[in-house]
Amino acid sequence: MHFLGRFFHPRKKIEFFGLYDQDDNLVYPIESIFYPNKTGNPYNFNHLHPVLCVEPTKIIGIGKNYKSHVKEFNAEIPSEPVIFLKASNTIIGPEEKIILPNDVGQIDYEGEIAVVIKKEVEKISEEKALDYVLGYTCANDITARDLQKKDGQWTRSKSFRTFCPVGPWILPADIYPKYQNLTLKTYVNDKPVQSTKASSMIFSIPYIVSFVSRIMTLYPGDIILTGTPSGVGPLKSNYKIAVEIEEIGTLINRTGSETKGIKTQTFATKDA
Ligand code: MG
Repeated sequence: MHFLGRFFHPRKKIEFFGLYDQDDNLVYPIESIFYPNKTGNPYNFNHLHPVLCVEPTKIIGIGKNYKSHVKEFNAEIPSEPVIFLKASNTIIGPEEKIILPNDVGQIDYEGEIAVVIKKEVEKISEEKALDYVLGYTCANDITARDLQKKDGQWTRSKSFRTFCPVGPWILPADIYPKYQNLTLKTYVNDKPVQSTKASSMIFSIPYIVSFVSRIMTLYPGDIILTGTPSGVGPLKSNYKIAVEIEEIGTLINRTGSETKGIKTQTFATKDA
């Protein structure tokens, strides 16, 4: 199995795109995740840290895509995908801190399978959609739950800085055609809280990519979050959240409080 990512070498103080060959425990420098031609000698994986490898122009979320999660919110099963936009400033990589903004009420984790777009596409059929998918990675669709309920639409609740951890690297779609087998698990402080398979989605990955592409142009690096299963819950400061896709790896992030140096917007939530 091999993966596409971006890696930091702490001793050499260099960062580079890499093809991670898990069997040989080596990472080959490559031109980019979109052009994975090898450009140099490999590094021992043990000497490297994965970092954020993708800069999306937009992040599209799918709401209510697992029956178990729809039930947990007493909502109705949607007849077509429910989509929302999450601001691109939310993106962070493995081990980066999730900043919990003050005064927004409850903030939840949502472990998800993320789809990374490979090339520009519009109005693609479901049959051809996977040709435009670079691959899959782990994501956490952090949500200010009280604001989501208060607003009725979701932009504000989904868009605070650091609210979209992704990584640690990308499983290329072309080497893993059986995307339905992807197995997602979320752990909070090492306790298992969510578990599902991609085959339990109400709308499949190719269907979602096709559906979104009929609305907006998708660009290389754009991310589609495919929805969360049941088991979402609140975060507090100094929590460790791990989103694991068995076939890919584990995305680990910790939460921190907003401090004077790191200012995000604050809002009153009195009537939330
Ligand atoms: Mg979500």
